[in-house]
Amino acid sequence: MPNPTAKILDGKALAAQFKEDMQQEVQHLVASYGRAPGLAVIIVGDDPASHVYVKNKKIACEKVGIKSFSHELAHTTTQEHLLGLLAELNRNPKVDGILVQLPLPAHIDADYVLKAIASHKDVDGFHPYNVGCLAVRQPELRSCTPYGCMKLLETTGVDLHGKEAVIVGASNIVGRPMALELLLAGVTVTIAHRFTENLQAHVERADIVVAAAGKQGLVQGSWIKQGAIVIDVGIHRLEDGTLTGDVDFAEASKRAAWITPVPGGVGPMTITMLLANTIQAFRTHVGDESTA
Ligand code: NAD
Repeated sequence: MPNPTAKILDGKALAAQFKEDMQQEVQHLVASYGRAPGLAVIIVGDDPASHVYVKNKKIACEKVGIKSFSHELAHTTTQEHLLGLLAELNRNPKVDGILVQLPLPAHIDADYVLKAIASHKDVDGFHPYNVGCLAVRQPELRSCTPYGCMKLLETTGVDLHGKEAVIVGASNIVGRPMALELLLAGVTVTIAHRFTENLQAHVERADIVVAAAGKQGLVQGSWIKQGAIVIDVGIHRLEDGTLTGDVDFAEASKRAAWITPVPGGVGPMTITMLLANTIQAFRTHVGDESTA
């Protein structure tokens, strides 16, 4: 029996709920430790989309009471200067989390820079140490987008053990850590990438599809298995200003049981997990063992 409409995995609503809880949590932490968790945000250059992302992250911090320290650097900033700033922030006791907004200008080696962030302050969860911890089933600071996707999957109430997942995209920041998250949750995982042959055949057998290739409409609705869960990480701005994803939402939602919208799905959860990671880094920093 076809599902006329899939249930929406509402990232916006879930994020709002998380933020409300985090606001309370931060109030308790301030009362106990005399300061709020601090997040340093570094942006290099004038990429308009990156500036919007950074602004949204700062607003989200304010909303839950996290203090944000902004570092807006010119496009011409040298790698050496950036590394010097990171060394300072790594030492700064008021800074619990450090985020370097990507992409960085071409003259800066992003992989090298990300490794220069102290792993216990790496609230984006991109440092090889943190990705490695996830790989060996001892997660510490988890990559925000996959972490947010897992929180969305949890809300379905579906037992993930033994399910077949296909992740479309194998980047360091989404596809690969997403595979590790799903593996940790007992899912059988396939990672598709630009060299994968017959993507359709892979997607057609998936109980869970995570689309993160950055290719608008790559995943066709007719490929989706009846009753699958579809998580669309892709974000594309159309000429009329509207946002869309990697999945053909209208067709896919006729077959899926659950689906994330774009916007309002994965995006709000990514920012929310950044806040959660900052609070977690603060707790580790101050030696707080309790949970809120
Ligand atoms: P990326 O370009 O770094 O990686 C894309 C991956 O997709 C690569 O591994 C590539 O091999 C694979 N790919 C490309 N074409 C493919 C094809 N035809 N079939 C299968 N795989 C293919 O991108 P990224 O940084 O991982 O981002 C992916 C998308 O997710 C983008 O649209 C980005 O804007 C979005 N994104 C959203 C959030 C969010 O919070 N919602 C966060 C991060 C990224």
